[in-house]
Amino acid sequence: MGSDMMQFKFQIGTKVFFGKGCIRENKAEFGKYGKRAVIVTGKSSGRASGALEDVTSVLNELEIQYYIYEGVENNPSLENVKEGGKKASEFEADFIIGIGGGSPLDAAKAVATLAVNDMEAIELYKNVFNRKPLPVIAIPTTSGTGSEVTPYSILTRKDMQTKMSFGNEDTFPKVAFLDATYTGSMSNDVMVNTAVDALSHAVEGYLSRRSMPVSDVIAEEAIRIFGKYIPYLLGQDLNFQVREELLYMSMLGGMVIAHTGTTIMHGMGYSLTYFKGIPHGKANGLLMKEYLEFNYPAAKEKIDHILRLLNQKDVEAFGKVMNQMLHCDERFTGKDIEEYALLAMKQRSTSSNIRDVSRENLVQIMEKSLEKK
Ligand code: NAP
Ligand code: ZN
Repeated sequence: MGSDMMQFKFQIGTKVFFGKGCIRENKAEFGKYGKRAVIVTGKSSGRASGALEDVTSVLNELEIQYYIYEGVENNPSLENVKEGGKKASEFEADFIIGIGGGSPLDAAKAVATLAVNDMEAIELYKNVFNRKPLPVIAIPTTSGTGSEVTPYSILTRKDMQTKMSFGNEDTFPKVAFLDATYTGSMSNDVMVNTAVDALSHAVEGYLSRRSMPVSDVIAEEAIRIFGKYIPYLLGQDLNFQVREELLYMSMLGGMVIAHTGTTIMHGMGYSLTYFKGIPHGKANGLLMKEYLEFNYPAAKEKIDHILRLLNQKDVEAFGKVMNQMLHCDERFTGKDIEEYALLAMKQRSTSSNIRDVSRENLVQIMEKSLEKK
């Protein structure tokens, strides 16, 4: 630590159940939040993962009425969650169950808020709500965002051509069920991209100006787990035990950013997703090597430690691993990059980056990361 005083607030508002069969074994949890539930999920993730079936069978046993909203888009928009909120309000839901990757889990938090507050979706960003959001139960089917243990809901904002998050202490999911059975149906691409997202949370949180002793310990463990499984991710050899540890890593990454937030890697990555449709975790991964390079002068010790935990001899070697894991055929013009840098400078989280950044710095990081590809 840089100073000799220790001062922090650490809080995770989510009760986590982890392990194979945890939904069935703890089904009484569902009965604690009421008699009417809206399930928020994507077009296929709920069904393909098997989680939707497990949840509905438990709800049936407990005689909880439910409505399934399967309309969550990837990178959900304000319009998308508005529709979900309307359905939940019409159904008079007592609680919301999110099943899926980060997209459905984030949408579930917005739906839970809009279901009981008569307001436009854009007003979510005020982060002050007349009525408390409905309780959310979160069930991840990817291992990357850690959204099940964060208060954040990241929504696509077309008016500002970017993605932006809302969330406060009341949007932490009340309960999360983490069962690696559900990540078995992910494609290899989604598996790798989401693992890289989890790494990006741990790394950004570790290097954030808002990092703290407890979040650092958690971040180090997440980074170590990623390092241990680099060969598996490259070989796409992902059995249950590997997937279980990656799911655990993803949860740890979420616990880190719940306290530190993210910084410029996410800030820049949002544009790659918004304008080019690059999946979220991959967008971060494409920028990670140059992000580390840029921050090295400001956080040499911590970055050396990250590299040690990842079993990489230097930032260059780590960049090679990311290149092997992620392929990018997109082309970016100088004008694209200028625009993305401007947008990233507007993200509040940019000020938490360990090294002061200018728009020119961001342009350089993106040029080095993207133009040569
Ligand atoms: P995702 O957008 O939720 O899902 C990616 C794709 O994988 C979708 O096509 C999805 O299908 C599919 N899929 C998910 N689980 C599956 C499974 N088990 N089997 C088969 N297919 C499956 O991806 P994500 O990377 O998990 O989430 C990304 C979103 O989370 C972004 O919007 C990002 O900004 C946000 N995020 C949030 C936080 C936070 O703290 N809240 C942190 C980081 C990122 P469907 O279309 O059927 O769902
Ligand atoms: Zn992320």
